Amino acid sequence: MSTASDHLMHVADKPKAVMVRGRGSWLYDREGREYLDFVQGWAVNLLGHCPDVVQRALARQAAELVHAGPGLHNAVSGALAEALAAGTRLDRVFIATSGAEANEGAIKLARKWGAARRGGAYGLITTDGGLHGRTLPTMSASGKPGWDALFEPKVPGFHKVPFGDAAAVEAAIDDATVGIMVEPIQGEAGVVVPPEGYLRELRAIADRHGLLLILDEIQTGMGRTGRLFASEWENVCPDIVTVGKGLGAGVPISAVVAREEICCFEPGDQGGTFAGNPLSCAVGLAVIETISEPAFLERTLQASARLRSGLDAIALRHGGGRARGRGLLLALPLARPVAIEVARIAFERGLLVNAPRPTTIRLVPALNVSDADIDVALERLEACIESALEVA
Ligand SMILES: *Cc1c(COP(=O)(O)O)cnc(C)c1O
Repeated sequence: MSTASDHLMHVADKPKAVMVRGRGSWLYDREGREYLDFVQGWAVNLLGHCPDVVQRALARQAAELVHAGPGLHNAVSGALAEALAAGTRLDRVFIATSGAEANEGAIKLARKWGAARRGGAYGLITTDGGLHGRTLPTMSASGKPGWDALFEPKVPGFHKVPFGDAAAVEAAIDDATVGIMVEPIQGEAGVVVPPEGYLRELRAIADRHGLLLILDEIQTGMGRTGRLFASEWENVCPDIVTVGKGLGAGVPISAVVAREEICCFEPGDQGGTFAGNPLSCAVGLAVIETISEPAFLERTLQASARLRSGLDAIALRHGGGRARGRGLLLALPLARPVAIEVARIAFERGLLVNAPRPTTIRLVPALNVSDADIDVALERLEACIESALEVA
């Protein structure tokens, strides 16, 4: 058997293990080793590995219609669009495949709207530390440290301000500005939570200046923070929202959802070979149905409280700060920059967590993670932190 990477481009440093199977919060490699998975494919497997609802939706849809193409209607994409419009309190949906593609769709929609309605305004105010994807325009919109020098020249039209500072957004507005684009909580930056009221202030600024508020809920949406969308915590309705990651619970799908008056795309402006693919849409629908069951997100919030108090207890014993985040998008700040070492030791001991920053451990388990699995994760994590701090 070839090693896993002989013919893959080297775009990330990965452990040698080759994953072959997953069930719920557990992942198994080719050697039969088990891992308690609190990364879940980068906050994607909302319902854990291979959940029955996703298996059923895939099997049923695969037997009916896998792909009809973007030139034809199919029954599932319409139903998913209806569910997403209802869930976001917005009106129209473009279904795409990845988060970056959804964000590019949002950027294009904002530029088209600016051209038609705001005298050619095209600029978007985005934030330092933000992450909106890895295509050239979405990298240009992102504020990830180290990216500013990559793949020059950047796509113009993005003005970055500090995250969490509404006054900085207002100060950055000029004649070319068409909108504001932020994550409700910055995920890849290490679960950075803005001050209470930030989204409400951005909504007010956008209204005052006639700008679009675009929320990138690719990581925070779909129940990740304990509400269907994180903007609900501040009762803010954006003009455009992008959804990805958890929407497909592991199957690639994303969406741009917008208010009716902004939906100014004309035929030919936007599309994609896999746009509205029935197989992924069927899964998206099943996922929305599952997390919309009344008790589902209640349980997620209970799991969040248990995990958070366990993390806080670890912080008390080993220094570092209290857990941050919301729902099951949580981070534990460490006393010393050993997060990468902690994640590495954890992997060896059968726990998957990630280290988005040298002092930050991020945990994004399945929304239906059990109390027993939370307790095992906390116990393993604490032991790994102890080991990492000892050698540091
Ligand atoms: C992951 C992520 C993206 C990019 O999604 P891809 O599917 O990798 O293109 C964009 N925005 C946020 C907030 C994300 O977390």
